Amino acid sequence: MITQRPRLSLWQNLYLPEILRGMWITIRHMIRFKQVTCEYPEKPHAVPANFRGLHRLIQRPGGKERCVACELCLTACPANCISMVAADPGDPSVEKYPLRYEIDTLRCIYCGFCEEACPCDAIELTPHYEFASHRREDFMYTKDRLLDNNRFVPEGERVSKVQTNETYLRV
Ligand code: SF4
Ligand code: SF4
Repeated sequence: MITQRPRLSLWQNLYLPEILRGMWITIRHMIRFKQVTCEYPEKPHAVPANFRGLHRLIQRPGGKERCVACELCLTACPANCISMVAADPGDPSVEKYPLRYEIDTLRCIYCGFCEEACPCDAIELTPHYEFASHRREDFMYTKDRLLDNNRFVPEGERVSKVQTNETYLRV
């Protein structure tokens, strides 16, 4: 089937009005002086409240991790970047604890599924995003490093706000 091209009017054939219209749009944006770039790293970028950055393991009031090594985060993780070894803490009030807990942040896609799957609110993605490095091993976050990441959260917000799920967590 042959498609008929619409006939252009004399005005449209001149092209000049359309060029001028395009230039007017450019000039209009220029004279508005609306800043669209941020001067990072001199001025830190303000992230939205639901931003998903570097992980942290939330602590109990005594400083120990809330994690009970249930492995739900590990199961929910689509990138397979969480690894863990569970152990008996020798404390009758806690069934298991993570002897080893690691996240390979180079594989992580920051989906937040681990946070959602956790029944104890033991893991959270913080707003921190400045963790670039030239060394591959720096992106392997061990349990100690994940606990240390609590420093990226304001003092009063480090302990989980959710106090439920006592079935899983007896603090
Ligand atoms: S944010 Fe997503 S990809 Fe990253 S560790 Fe959690 S579940 Fe896995
Ligand atoms: S889901 Fe929560 S409690 Fe279970 S292993 Fe992961 S971080 Fe620990």
